[in-house]
Amino acid sequence: MQIEFFGAAGEVTGSCHIVRVGGRTLLLDCGMVQGGRDAPRRNLQPFPFDPARIDAVVLSHAHIDHCGRLPLLVKRGFRGPIYTNAACRDLLPLLLHDTADLAEREVQRRARHGGMPPEEPLFTADDVERTLKLLRTVRYDTHYAPLPGISLRVRDAGHILGSSSVELECSEAGISRRLVFSGDLGQYDSPILLDAHRFEAADLVLMESTYGDRLHRSRADTLAEIGEVIRATDQDGGNILVPAFAVGRSQEILYLLGQHFEEWGLRDWQIFLDSPMAIEASKIYWAHSDRYDEEARHLRASFESMPMLPNLTLSRTALQSRAINSVRSHALIIAGSGMCNGGRILHHFLHNLERPECHVMITGFQAPGTLGRALVDGEPHVHIHGQPIRPVAKVHTVGGLSAHGDQADLLRWYGSFADRPPVCLVHGEWQAAHTLKQKIKALGAKVHLPRPGARLDLASMTLSN
Ligand code: ZN
Repeated sequence: MQIEFFGAAGEVTGSCHIVRVGGRTLLLDCGMVQGGRDAPRRNLQPFPFDPARIDAVVLSHAHIDHCGRLPLLVKRGFRGPIYTNAACRDLLPLLLHDTADLAEREVQRRARHGGMPPEEPLFTADDVERTLKLLRTVRYDTHYAPLPGISLRVRDAGHILGSSSVELECSEAGISRRLVFSGDLGQYDSPILLDAHRFEAADLVLMESTYGDRLHRSRADTLAEIGEVIRATDQDGGNILVPAFAVGRSQEILYLLGQHFEEWGLRDWQIFLDSPMAIEASKIYWAHSDRYDEEARHLRASFESMPMLPNLTLSRTALQSRAINSVRSHALIIAGSGMCNGGRILHHFLHNLERPECHVMITGFQAPGTLGRALVDGEPHVHIHGQPIRPVAKVHTVGGLSAHGDQADLLRWYGSFADRPPVCLVHGEWQAAHTLKQKIKALGAKVHLPRPGARLDLASMTLSN
């Protein structure tokens, strides 16, 4: 009976851990490595195990760094069931097909530029379809038996719709161990979603530590900031551009706009959700209101259909998207991609960035090297679709909307375990994990930072790092 740490040990992406009980093997997540030059190469590498010998997968949520290599696992021989909750199951086709699309286009792009015969993409739409057929839906807070000797229960993690923490009760040779894998944890009191489940007991906790060394801006300050951007743009007479991820962030922004509709004077605005993927994701969010908090349920009840905004236009086609270009004032445009390195936000930038009366509202992390980062850093010249642009629109970075809990949230989540079980910190950069380690140790717990390939024997509870 043991757990082996593979991806996301000592880093933030590529979550993947393997649990072995009574000769059976279960995989916790199978995520893609994201960011960094060598990510594509690392994602193509062989798995450090034989996919055909994995008996089952439990998936915590639909973010690509947790589910993105599932189609590759299937392509390389995995045939077992993949357990996840209903909302995650509904989001998966959207995210996995998008990833397959990107992978296939990237291969074609490289072939065009390098004049080389096309290499194989990471996986294709067919691999995604075969993966989706393996999904088995589990209800929250309900016991299942995915494999002999393993009992499974998923709990809300409050991170994105359909995110879960995973509880495994493992039994072998008369010894039982309860293992809790946090998955990604959300902020407490975040818009729309329920808070993360309060666990009470475990023998071992596997916990994310993404923001283990940071505190987010407060909710009240964040809302005040959004209100201020809208007020300033109203006065300047321009448009607001909001680059946003299609799943999670777009819905959160729409929800906040609905919640503060009168207060922020939104009646005079045209709001555009300019992303077919975000529109689909919003429908899925709308359909799973059983996972909403009290406030969101209340707001949803006062609207008949998805948008929760009377003046929202859903732009599906490219033609509809281009039509927005003629709106010169009081348009609030939400479009992908979240880091501005592609997608429809680019043509809105072409039409608005060189106008001083326009404003850009950045609501998420912008990785170095992306256009979003260049705008945040105030670069005087950027290139969009090969065209040189001098951005003069005002760029605002609205903090506090992270889908991840901060240090205080993580400590609050762990604090509910009354018996202070030992912790393995995964899914965090070194600095974040180390800072959180000290904080949790101060609560009286034993904390490990497993390296990739480390094994923890669940019977003796010893780690070979
Ligand atoms: Zn996540």
